[in-house]
Amino acid sequence: MLEHDLEQVAELLLAARHAVAFTGAGISTPSGIPDYRSPGTGLWEKMDPMAVASLRAFRADPVAFYRAMRPFAAKLLAAQPNPAHLALAALERDGLLACVITQNVDHLHRAAGSRCVWELHGDLWEAVCINCKRILPADGLWHRFLQEGIVPRCASCGRALKPNLILFGEPLPRYVFLEATGEAERCDLMLVVGASLEVAPACELPFVALRHGARLVVLNSAPTPADAQAWVVIRHDLAEVLPRLAEICRARLRPLGSDAAPSEEEER
Ligand code: ZN
Repeated sequence: MLEHDLEQVAELLLAARHAVAFTGAGISTPSGIPDYRSPGTGLWEKMDPMAVASLRAFRADPVAFYRAMRPFAAKLLAAQPNPAHLALAALERDGLLACVITQNVDHLHRAAGSRCVWELHGDLWEAVCINCKRILPADGLWHRFLQEGIVPRCASCGRALKPNLILFGEPLPRYVFLEATGEAERCDLMLVVGASLEVAPACELPFVALRHGARLVVLNSAPTPADAQAWVVIRHDLAEVLPRLAEICRARLRPLGSDAAPSEEEER
């Protein structure tokens, strides 16, 4: 049954002119990053997001903001891409996936090798000064913060640097959202991967794709509002099904008996 569904998704991918993936927290839970909303384990089950992860809270008291976010930041920075991230990167390399649109800020798609990634909610590996608007690479800053507890500050104005991700009360980055919307309009196949489609406005994108005639495939552990309109719905461990999907696609791209061994050049 599952294998049959995956074969069907592989056929859709191979036939698609422009396929994109839309990913959410579910693709990163196998990397040890807590989901935001899962009952019992979700990050926001334990604290009030508006009180902690909001722009207002950051402006009011950056030191308290950093203290509250520290356990989450430690998990994010230690996380490694899992087989689901790697499989999406492989599909892109094989020319079957145009881009990944993600709600995640964990940078794991890029770490896995995906090249075209639209990060709707920002990127934890960057920091921004909300006063000077300067953006700078941040993994070094955060590691120093985790080790020494010192809040990183802007070299020009001395204010606390904000992680360059979208806090509650902040709009999505306009340019990224427009590009992602363009992808949703342009695609003829969208894989919804590990996204519960509850966070607006990002969760609108699969519906934008549907309105423009795309087919939808939903791979998520729980039901989503888009399931009824999806071509295929798969509720199974993403770290298992996505690598299998990439494998099926690759086998069809290189039928047995042809020069099946990929060259070094292609592998990269
Ligand atoms: Zn500054």
